[in-house]
Amino acid sequence: MSMNSQGRPTRSEGAEMNAAQETFTGNRALILEEKLIFESGSIDRTGIDLPAAPDAPSKLGGLERTVDIGLPGLSESETVRHYTRLSRQNYGIDLGFFPLGSCTMKHNPRLNEKMARLPGFADIHPLQPQQTVQGAYRVIDELADWLKTLTGMPAVAMSPKAGAHGELCGVLAIRSALEARGDAREVILVPESAHGTNPATAAFAGYKVEDIPATKEGRVDLDALVARLGPDVAGVMITNPNTCGLFERDMKKISDAVHAAGGFVYCDGANFNAIVGKVRPGDLGIDAMHINLHKTFSTPHGGGGPGSGPVVFSQALAPYAPLPFVEKQGEEYRLVEEENAEEHHASSFGRMVAFHGQMGMFTRALTYMLSHGADGLKQVSEDAVLNANYILRSLEDVLDAPFAPSGPCMHEALFSDKGFADGFSTLDLAKGLIDEGFHPMTMYFPLVVHGAMLIEPTETESKDAIDEFVGALRHVVSAAKAGDANLKAAPHHAPRRRLDETMAARKPVLVYKDSEAAT
Ligand SMILES: *Cc1c(COP(=O)(O)O)cnc(C)c1O
Repeated sequence: MSMNSQGRPTRSEGAEMNAAQETFTGNRALILEEKLIFESGSIDRTGIDLPAAPDAPSKLGGLERTVDIGLPGLSESETVRHYTRLSRQNYGIDLGFFPLGSCTMKHNPRLNEKMARLPGFADIHPLQPQQTVQGAYRVIDELADWLKTLTGMPAVAMSPKAGAHGELCGVLAIRSALEARGDAREVILVPESAHGTNPATAAFAGYKVEDIPATKEGRVDLDALVARLGPDVAGVMITNPNTCGLFERDMKKISDAVHAAGGFVYCDGANFNAIVGKVRPGDLGIDAMHINLHKTFSTPHGGGGPGSGPVVFSQALAPYAPLPFVEKQGEEYRLVEEENAEEHHASSFGRMVAFHGQMGMFTRALTYMLSHGADGLKQVSEDAVLNANYILRSLEDVLDAPFAPSGPCMHEALFSDKGFADGFSTLDLAKGLIDEGFHPMTMYFPLVVHGAMLIEPTETESKDAIDEFVGALRHVVSAAKAGDANLKAAPHHAPRRRLDETMAARKPVLVYKDSEAAT
């Protein structure tokens, strides 16, 4: 079967695919076939009539565009339909189960959205006079208070815009603290199960990255770590709970050993959903940790919205935290910025963002916290862990679960592709799940497990939803073990078959096919 440039079977070839399902249009019932927008429009048509531009001398000094940029001309109704049809082909947390491990794809309560859209929050501008945005500052300050309380840490930087950005914030604070004592350390240690952003962050901040091995049971090898500590080690970056879905029980011992060797402890807190209300990272000797508000505190992410990655700090790192931040003085909130930082925040490493961070996410996260309350947040983590263990125990008889003998998992369950028929992989399993109407789990991460499948149900899935997923997965696993050729060709029922993912990434079609700019 040949494909057109977008990997879609052309209409006449639809017949080869499945004669019984062929339609003239390519549509199937009310699932509508969708062309690229460049294929639907044409550059010589337009959806709106603009008056001819008056002849005016150009102010661009010879930098005017000389070729057509090739934007397709479409009417308003054609444009609306195009994007509405595409949105119907998009899978999201509001449609069904989204078991991406490490991503904490939980339901986003609508109350959060309602609060974030209040004009007093949604319509303000970061350059407004401070007296006119006191309410927004109060939200930032109260959220900061909750984060410090939940983590048992004395300080927090609210401005980082995502987890990875928070990591950079933490590592830059570590660098400043070391520089302040004239200590030029060069190495950051990262466990081999770490999220890719950890070594990337350390390298971006100018450090050499060295791996720490994992034990057979999926935790950091404490002895190997302690053996590597020395005067060249600036710190460690450890994810807890880790990406194998396990709590690092030696965390306090690790922190004590790193501190004794003069280094700092960064914790990747992306998996905080498993321990919020149960464990305070401050009690584990952590110096800096980012919190993905968009994971633990339910604000939409992925295709659904921006992230937010506040970083909590220990007393030792707090003086180096970035600007700006909100501070309460009497009944007033004010900003501490470059102009007034001298008074009590002179060692700040600087600024990471122009303004204060993601206001909309702050409002959603605080709404989530206030509506759950402290007891509710504790129940969130307990239910998330219960659901993950239910998945682990419901699948371990058919899927290899290398760390199942290590005891209960935290918020996510990890499986490998061991036992699949020759030539069958985790990718085939994922494609089969799409046919079953499920977004696949996280695949091939963490790297410590062959063909890894990392499943995180979160606390917001019902037992029925999880049972249905488990049933579908068991069905697809038996096909992978039996070497079922049908699975190799999945998905059969999605709008597209298997795409050439490399081509899609390397040679995306971004311009109108006939435009000069395309050549
Ligand atoms: C999601 C995640 C990150 C990165 O967070 P972003 O908000 O996507 O930048 C880092 N580490 C782990 C373990 C994660 O799950």
